[in-house]
Amino acid sequence: MSRTVLVLSEVRDGKLRNVTYECLAAAKRIAEGGPVVAAVFGTKAAAYAEALAQRGADRVIRVEHAALDAYTTDAYAQALIQVIEAVKPDAVLLGHTALGKDLAPRVAARLDVGLLSDCTDVAVEGGEVIFTRPIYAGKAFQKKKVLSGLLFATIRPNNIPPLEADASRQAVVETLGVVIENVRTEVKDVVRKTAQGVDLSEAKIIVSGGRGVKSAEGFKPLYELAEVLGGVVGASRGACDAGYCDYALQIGQTGKVVTPDLYIACGISGAIQHLAGMSNSKVIVAINKDPEAPIFQVADYGIVGDLFEVVPLLTQELRKVLQ
Ligand code: FAD
Repeated sequence: MSRTVLVLSEVRDGKLRNVTYECLAAAKRIAEGGPVVAAVFGTKAAAYAEALAQRGADRVIRVEHAALDAYTTDAYAQALIQVIEAVKPDAVLLGHTALGKDLAPRVAARLDVGLLSDCTDVAVEGGEVIFTRPIYAGKAFQKKKVLSGLLFATIRPNNIPPLEADASRQAVVETLGVVIENVRTEVKDVVRKTAQGVDLSEAKIIVSGGRGVKSAEGFKPLYELAEVLGGVVGASRGACDAGYCDYALQIGQTGKVVTPDLYIACGISGAIQHLAGMSNSKVIVAINKDPEAPIFQVADYGIVGDLFEVVPLLTQELRKVLQ
């Protein structure tokens, strides 16, 4: 049974976010040969049509309203609802990002449909669309299907592989006018809390520090290791609470959920709330001087030692190999 699947594209710093490509790949699975429609918002929407087509969109809908250049819940919710009314999709997918987490529940509530949030996989089994999502802070996974009505889901970044870009793919590009009114917020400026170029939730390599790093200065070797590996730095809440780094870096139940290819935990004990944010990383390396630290239970590789000795040594050796 073919389906029409709508993906809301997300743009940051003038680039489509990877999670948009991942949503397009998920949409292709759900569509079963039906059209995958990508909506892209803002006055620069035209710039993204080609990339969306190359990654699987059959139709691109540009919604070029100035009120959509910066994200506000009011404007985006109104625009997305009007796109859904125009496209009449069987399924709608958004990234499980700060934007998706804010927007999807509001739109689902307005449309009076259910929402499957934070899905890590999607498959069609026996003609039914089955979504996989973590429960109990990532300790277990549940499989869900929607019995009737619109399938509405947010997709966790870094879980569903995007399709390779195919330069020969083309999409039908349309523009849609929307009415946006009574927007209660205005974005004056966007101020980055960290200088890191990549969003933690989309990073492929994360070097993360905990209370064992002992100070803001103690994070310096972690930044050096991250730089050599082409990764970014994250932190436990212990490190954030102690004032060693900004809460924007916090990973865990009340921080960011990450699924990098490589997660290096330095001086992090491995509390359940931290594991909730990183235990699905593909490869986990733990550096801790306590051999009994729970982080070793989820680690693929464990180094029992003082991080202030181990991390600079790793950086030194990796620099020889990688640079
Ligand atoms: P600690 O538990 O103090 O561990 C420090 C580790 O560093 C120890 O294992 C120690 O052996 C090691 N160490 C010390 N010195 C060195 C050294 N020189 N070399 C190597 N190792 C060394 N936590 C999160 O991380 N993210 C969350 O989102 C989060 N949300 C929470 C939500 C709630 C509702 C609650 C109650 C808690 C939450 N927490 C969260 C806090 C969590 O329970 C832990 O307190 C926190 O993760 C501990 O941080 P830590 O591992 O850095 O510190």
